Amino acid sequence: MQINTKFTQIGAGHFVIMAGPCSVENLEQMTQIATLVKQFPNAVLRGGAFKPRTSPHDFQGLGLDGLNLLREVKKSLNIPIITEVVGVEHLPFYNDVDFLQIGARNMQNFELLKAVAKCKTPVLLKRGFANTLDEFLKSADYILSGGNPNVILCERGIRTFEPATRNTLDLAGVAYLKSKTHLPVIVDPSHATGIASLVVPMALSAIMAGADGLMIEVHNDPKNAISDGEQSLNLPQFEQAMDKIQKTVAFYKSLS
Ligand code: PEP
Ligand code: MN
Repeated sequence: MQINTKFTQIGAGHFVIMAGPCSVENLEQMTQIATLVKQFPNAVLRGGAFKPRTSPHDFQGLGLDGLNLLREVKKSLNIPIITEVVGVEHLPFYNDVDFLQIGARNMQNFELLKAVAKCKTPVLLKRGFANTLDEFLKSADYILSGGNPNVILCERGIRTFEPATRNTLDLAGVAYLKSKTHLPVIVDPSHATGIASLVVPMALSAIMAGADGLMIEVHNDPKNAISDGEQSLNLPQFEQAMDKIQKTVAFYKSLS
């Protein structure tokens, strides 16, 4: 299945890159990052405005101001945007967002799934870190059967007994999902590993597992990022990563 929007095509051989900071912080940050991300074909700018954080004392995102910043960058640079929606009551604010992201923590927020099912906007559904593939597909079905056919699945790592990495990237799950569903499947190696140096090897492995795209955290100044700096690529690292990613996508296509 292929999902088409004005600027983006996903699935059926179209590889998507969703990249940007964990959190939207300010206009200069977003403009710098978006200017680089936009140089790549089929790229979408990511950035969290409403952030689901484990601790209530951590930065919760800029909220509506963050959404407006994303909108401003979308307009000025002509780049599509994806951002997470955490509550049904926020949906009216997401009217010109190109992709609605449902985060891992909300994969089984069934009322939210039913609400995005009624939207026309494509939905990126992230796998819950303690959810099986079967539960993941059932959550996707809430959106599909509720009337929105444009669902992209995202494997972002699951919680296992291994603490060395933030999560364990389930690449077999990616291949499994590709065999079980017509939906595009993308991989987020940033949240899957929690370690910037592991992002590229896992990104390239995801391509070989059949992923239709990647979601990668990129920051202009990772050391001072408000959230997830340790897993974010800086701008030169992202550029180098994209070179390897594009070569690997071409190689993977040459196999079939
Ligand atoms: C994110 O992508 O911003 C995020 C919070 O990821 P996840 O829901 O996978 O933890
Ligand atoms: Mn993050």
